[in-house]
Amino acid sequence: MSIQENLLKIKSTLPEHVTLVAVSKTKPISDLMEAYNTGQRIFGENKIQEMAEKHEQMPKDIEWHMIGHVQRNKVKYMAEFVSLIHGVESFKLLNEINKQAQKHDRIIDCLLQIKIAEEDSKFGMSAEDASNLLKSNEFSELKHIKVVGLMGMATFTDDTNQIKKEFKSLSHTFTELKQLHPELKTISMGMSGDYKLAIDCGSTMIRVGSSIFGSRNYN
Ligand SMILES: *Cc1c(COP(=O)(O)O)cnc(C)c1O
Repeated sequence: MSIQENLLKIKSTLPEHVTLVAVSKTKPISDLMEAYNTGQRIFGENKIQEMAEKHEQMPKDIEWHMIGHVQRNKVKYMAEFVSLIHGVESFKLLNEINKQAQKHDRIIDCLLQIKIAEEDSKFGMSAEDASNLLKSNEFSELKHIKVVGLMGMATFTDDTNQIKKEFKSLSHTFTELKQLHPELKTISMGMSGDYKLAIDCGSTMIRVGSSIFGSRNYN
């Protein structure tokens, strides 16, 4: 199936409250333009430099989401245009995003990445760390960032029960934190293989790559 067909098919199944981020990492501009011409306006990338290059070349009414692990020294390359940073997992990083956003007179929306997977390779903070961060004085002084929700990645496994357990735990953390922090609106969870389950568990934003653009070739 074509990118257009894939995209339309996925979109037709999504509840209205769920936002689709088209994950276009490693894919050429021509593929992104096919999605764009189908009406897609939110794209996710996991490398800052690749995202900045694509931002240069693509129409300017696109929302660019950074979904990957963020290196602090590269925040400056996206501060001018990025719409949402999904993978924020420390105060230090938030502080750097705030500093770079200030230079452009912007407020950058961020999600705190919560570690829900059992794998050590996955990044993220604990629910408790996130709670403490949101309550802290240092945090309240950052005027150029806004934490609008949480993001999580499930363990890479075929065990649906395991994935479900992890999604539910993120959803639970979100509900708890939202009581004190009503500005939290977004739960970013779910990818090509598990987005339906993620939506059932409360996701409001899914990050889908290969089901739209086909499998990736990293060579
Ligand atoms: C690559 C990536 C995705 C998309 O993965 P697919 O399985 O291709 O849908 C989603 N989230 C993150 C953080 C990614 O790095």
